[in-house]
Amino acid sequence: MAEPDRDTTPAVSFYGWEHEKEHREEWLRCLVDVLDSEQWLSHGNPQVSTFEREFADWLGRDHAVAVSSGSEALALTFEALALPPGGEVITPALTFQATAAAVIRAGLTPRFVDVRPADLQLDPAAVTDAITPRTVAILPVHLYGLPAPVDELARLAEEFHIVMVEDCAQAVGARTRSGPVGTRGVAACFSCGPTKQLSGPAEGGVIALDDAALADTLRALRHNGAAASFRHEHLGRNAMMGALDAAFLRHRLGRLDRENTARRRIAERYAAVFADDPLISPVVPDQWAHASPSKATIRLPHTARDTVRTALEHAGIPTAVHYAVPLHRQPCFADLPPVSLPVTDEAARTVLSLPLHAGLGPSDVGRIGEEVKRAVKEAA
Ligand SMILES: *Cc1c(COP(=O)(O)O)cnc(C)c1O
Repeated sequence: MAEPDRDTTPAVSFYGWEHEKEHREEWLRCLVDVLDSEQWLSHGNPQVSTFEREFADWLGRDHAVAVSSGSEALALTFEALALPPGGEVITPALTFQATAAAVIRAGLTPRFVDVRPADLQLDPAAVTDAITPRTVAILPVHLYGLPAPVDELARLAEEFHIVMVEDCAQAVGARTRSGPVGTRGVAACFSCGPTKQLSGPAEGGVIALDDAALADTLRALRHNGAAASFRHEHLGRNAMMGALDAAFLRHRLGRLDRENTARRRIAERYAAVFADDPLISPVVPDQWAHASPSKATIRLPHTARDTVRTALEHAGIPTAVHYAVPLHRQPCFADLPPVSLPVTDEAARTVLSLPLHAGLGPSDVGRIGEEVKRAVKEAA
């Protein structure tokens, strides 16, 4: 294969952090605000409580509890729910490790269920089959910024008197037909890590919910279990969001809707470029208008994926695989009973994520798309 001409082919980045330099003044303003406030304590910090209020209002829920990561958001939620120990939580295996680790950390058992072939989201039919008297919760993941079928799953949860918690880590701003992602579950957990849409040079997570008592428990748990000053009702842990992280996230929240619209347009452009290629299938929701894509995930013939990745790397196009090793095959979950998840296994062999961020212009998307098509043709 010919070497790319680095002078005429600028490399693109996967996450687009270099474009954040355009907002340098705003990021620095956040730092100055926190410095000048002279309030560095995370507990009771006005930046944190204001971010919580702004996030809850933006989403349309009564409460938001800011924590140190999306992983902690999930783990603290299951701890606060205090579901019967050993109960099963139905969740997909095509997700990040934190989804199921949170379940185990709360003394519960993940029950991995397959995704549906059309959009790789948790399959309500497979969930129905997996519900037993031991099932205590359903934990759908809105994968790749596409909405999981939470309306159907919420109906199942209601019918079987179990709770639904949403893992919204990848999908802040996505919508189902009935409303924003994160408004159907008893609690919805978001990540504000650097790879996610609502992020900054920071780590963080948010739990959105309507139950005031559960919100109080979560606020105590993130603060070493203290419900009042130095009165520790629970063991808890230190999972506070810091003042600077909150200031950064307040700034980013102010332009999130605009950026999500731009991302949606880029996803549509990718889909248009790939429309005439029978070997490439973008993973798309029922209607694009409802997604909040965080990467452009496509499916390839499974013999081609790794060759295509290498060819794209040579062309200066970074890619990622979400996820090559699904959770039912991860060493840390090896003690769980074996399950058969054919759609998940097939996806693990065939998915490829392409860069998708607001810094990509139409010509970047066109160039990446054409390189992908060429690499797939050569590899097939
Ligand atoms: C990123 C992510 C998490 C964890 O969030 P962190 O902020 O990285 O701890 C959980 N679930 C999913 C699906 C994720 O993508």
